[in-house]
Amino acid sequence: MSDETDYIIVGAGSAGSVLAERLTASGKHRVTVLEAGGSDRRFYVALPLGYGKLFYDPAVNWMYKTEPDPGLAGQRDHWPRGKLLGGSSSINAMVWIRGHRADYDEWGQAAPGWGWEDVLSAYRAIEDNEAGGDAWRGKGGPLFISANRRGLHPLVKDYVAACESAGLPENADFNGAEQEGAGIYQMTIKSARRNSTARAFLRPAMKRPNCRVVTGAHVTRVVIEGGRAVGVEYLKDGQRHVLRAKAEVILSGGAINSPQLLQLSGIGPGALLQGLGLPVLVDNPNVGDHLNDHQGINYTWAMKVPTYNDELRPWWGKLIAGMKYVLAGAGPLAKSINHGGGFFRTDPGQPRPNMQLYMQAFSTLIPRDGERPILNPDPWSGLSLGLSNCRPTSRGHIRINNADPLRHPTIVANAFSTENDVTEMLAAVKFLRHLAAQPALARLIKEELRPGPAVQSDEALIQDFRERSGTVYHPSCTCRMGADPATSVLDNRLRVRGVEGLRVIDASSFPNLIAGNTNAPSILMGWKGAEIVLGDAR
Ligand SMILES: Cc1cc2nc3c(=O)[nH]c(=O)nc-3n(C[C@H](O)[C@H](O)[C@H](O)COP(=O)(O)OP(=O)(O)OC[C@H]3O[C@@H](n4cnc5c(N)ncnc54)[C@H](O)[C@@H]3O)c2cc1C
Repeated sequence: MSDETDYIIVGAGSAGSVLAERLTASGKHRVTVLEAGGSDRRFYVALPLGYGKLFYDPAVNWMYKTEPDPGLAGQRDHWPRGKLLGGSSSINAMVWIRGHRADYDEWGQAAPGWGWEDVLSAYRAIEDNEAGGDAWRGKGGPLFISANRRGLHPLVKDYVAACESAGLPENADFNGAEQEGAGIYQMTIKSARRNSTARAFLRPAMKRPNCRVVTGAHVTRVVIEGGRAVGVEYLKDGQRHVLRAKAEVILSGGAINSPQLLQLSGIGPGALLQGLGLPVLVDNPNVGDHLNDHQGINYTWAMKVPTYNDELRPWWGKLIAGMKYVLAGAGPLAKSINHGGGFFRTDPGQPRPNMQLYMQAFSTLIPRDGERPILNPDPWSGLSLGLSNCRPTSRGHIRINNADPLRHPTIVANAFSTENDVTEMLAAVKFLRHLAAQPALARLIKEELRPGPAVQSDEALIQDFRERSGTVYHPSCTCRMGADPATSVLDNRLRVRGVEGLRVIDASSFPNLIAGNTNAPSILMGWKGAEIVLGDAR
């Protein structure tokens, strides 16, 4: 391959794939995408429920582990991250949530140009929403969003009725005028197949002559000459390559790998880099800092009525589910397991919802190590009601521990390290039991299984969520954008401070974590990031 291009994009994930499509659309720019992982053309990537299998599959997953976390009873949490075309959008649970409008107004305060009014038009342009376009939803954009109204498990209706009687009204669109309420999640699923960013953005772009995608290309360093990023070094098949960029280098490696790559390139906490024998080109302690992530937990009940456990556990049930999928694109395999959802406040004094709900007509023990048995559920009819916090105040960090670029960086999550996060989670898990006690669900419940009726006191509930909760896979903000150089890595045009020709565009660029799942805002980053890059090129 030629050793020069206009734009280099490091990582073909949620943001990187969108950038590749947008930057190549005019035909004026040569773009090369370097992706450490391989192809996304795999059965379990396309199959919506297949993500349960990808959870612990090193062929498509970086398989990160956090440091032992005092907030999680000393355990090391498993952090899957996609390592293939489409990145984490190729292994995620496909829930489509933009976040609360006030989250973006906070973004706009931290980084002018990123407020709700600025991002709404971008979201509407991105979406092709099956539910139709309106003042909030988009229609006709490149990313099909399933309204997810057909083939849901009947227990979803009972769940929504229980929420209503518990004081949480039904909400037909969490991405509409109001986020609060209970209802059904929209999904990035199209024609019963995962609609990753590789499928919706990258593959169409790959048909253009000016878009090159190199898989198996692990970028090890940004090459910086005279204060300007001029290219990258990468390893492919054990060989070292250098690729030069005439215009810009854009890092879209995600919230763990982008700060790692900056640090390896001499941009980060000076003392850390010096200690590892690396040159310090830009001393910025914010690189890898401000790590923000949602923590989640499931409560489970044995039910008097059948759930997906009954269908997915026996071999003949798996066979029927497989036939339903192959013959009709239907059944549990055609969906995410999160049929129902919601957003609520743990106390009325909260200005907006501070907890997110997940309802699954399914239950399984999720061990921290080993395979998540999503196709091997509990041997009873199980229901799970889960939740995750929306705006935790705990912060962790990502730091390299070695000059070797192939070594995983140190991930310190610091889960539940603030009083706020413990107090609101305690109130939230109590709400799960309150929900299960509503007549619509109580009449169908046999018994509570996890954590079980013995766990009642505040101390026991806290100990339980420290032992059983974990990431819901939304690490963000580790190269955060902001107007204040003292607390950020990027300016509001996503440019790395202190180096020319270098941007970071992915979930690490978020000024703050949004209330909801992070695929939509990562795609937004790619979309708006491309507008900025093209604007600056003009
Ligand atoms: C198991 C799981 C379930 C999730 N469920 C949901 C959900 O239901 N809904 C939702 O909205 N969000 C969900 N998320 C979160 C969401 O998918 C991510 O926040 C989002 O995809 C992040 O996008 P990104 O562009 O920042 O990074 P990624 O999509 O992770 O992309 C980064 C890419 O860069 C590549 N890369 C990294 N380093 C290098 C390097 N040095 N050289 C070359 N390439 C490199 C990676 O291999 C990867 O392809 C989930 C995530 C996971 C892991």
